[in-house]
Amino acid sequence: MGLENGHSGASSRRAFLGRAAGAGAGIIAVAAAGTLAGTSSATAAPTGAQGDQSNWRFCQKCYSMFFWGYPTDGVCPAGGAHSAQGYNFVLPHDVAETSTAQRNWRFCQKCYSMFFWGYPTDGVCPAGGAHSAQGFNFVLPHDISETPTRQRNWRFCQKCYAMFFWGYPTDGACASGGAHSAQGFNFALPHT
Ligand SMILES: [Zn+2]
Ligand SMILES: [Zn+2]
Ligand SMILES: [Zn+2]
Repeated sequence: MGLENGHSGASSRRAFLGRAAGAGAGIIAVAAAGTLAGTSSATAAPTGAQGDQSNWRFCQKCYSMFFWGYPTDGVCPAGGAHSAQGYNFVLPHDVAETSTAQRNWRFCQKCYSMFFWGYPTDGVCPAGGAHSAQGFNFVLPHDISETPTRQRNWRFCQKCYAMFFWGYPTDGACASGGAHSAQGFNFALPHT
């Protein structure tokens, strides 16, 4: 279904950890800038360092997009930690919103999922309570064509607010119970 196993095991995972530490430091640095931007308006022009962050992965247990760059893999609504499969997504952050790219997608520091932070409430986190944003403000492309380095059928779950893969016959496991439920844009996310 388009997901390839681009990661072969624990040894290559360890090889990623050096880069992961750098990514973590970047998250902390940009979190401060994000706080300043948030004082003016939730839709303020981006002020964080623009860039792309790798190590975003599909969880084969819950179908959510989660950050795989830390030694642990967060909290999965299907139980235990998330489990990566397939592509390594490289996601743009802190760039301008356009008619085909939506701002306010954030990393949840409690469950490690990508969730939509643009509503007054923050959905349902599998770690308990609502999701909790940290770091970059991701601006994710939607409603554009699929290419060899861009996968369509990533959707917003209106129940838990997570980004999940909608390209299978079933829709994974939602922190609100049952499966995720798609609403809105069809995201086409870049990967290596
Ligand atoms: Zn999961
Ligand atoms: Zn969460
Ligand atoms: Zn959900």
